[in-house]
Amino acid sequence: MTIAVEVTTDRRFGTNSYLVEDEQTHDAVVIDSNLEPDLVIDAARARGARVRAIVLTHTDIDHIAGLHELREAFGPVPIAIHAAERDVVEQGKPLRREFGPLATQLDNVTSLIEGETYRAGSLELEVLHTPGHSPGGVTLKIDGCLFTGDALFAGSVGRSDFANSDGAVLLEGIRRKLLTLPDDMIVYSGHGPATTIGREKRMNPFLA
Ligand SMILES: [Zn+2]
Repeated sequence: MTIAVEVTTDRRFGTNSYLVEDEQTHDAVVIDSNLEPDLVIDAARARGARVRAIVLTHTDIDHIAGLHELREAFGPVPIAIHAAERDVVEQGKPLRREFGPLATQLDNVTSLIEGETYRAGSLELEVLHTPGHSPGGVTLKIDGCLFTGDALFAGSVGRSDFANSDGAVLLEGIRRKLLTLPDDMIVYSGHGPATTIGREKRMNPFLA
């Protein structure tokens, strides 16, 4: 399988929303839903990609803001998320005690399970639970690519100062589940540029 990855970034939070496409079948997923959903919708249309699911690394508002627009564009495709944060998308329950309720209430939500493979058309996504920034944070492994959400960034890690964050759990998950993967694995984060596992092992000051 050869996959193509296109990144789109909103201007307000600098949050990345990815289109990941199987180049043979054109089956695709959108990973995270930032504040400018038109960008990833346009990218999918330009490639002729068939979006089979929307997959969320976690449910902070800047990663789910465009869900209604994505559903309008792609139809009632499943929204896949870790069970610990399902209520945020299904019932508009706030993820953070610090913020108010959301106007996000969507159906056809499905759970991502640690260690299992999530299938969307011809794409296979391996689910690694990497909590600590938020309880249901996941990293998705597709081919040689990792989509780490707000767990691991180029040169940094996610914030863990919210009431439901846990900095020690975050670092442990990154060390045990991500840094043990091959050095040439490409890391696509929730914010900022792509990096590799090898580079973060050598250069990330939070993991030294
Ligand atoms: Zn974020």
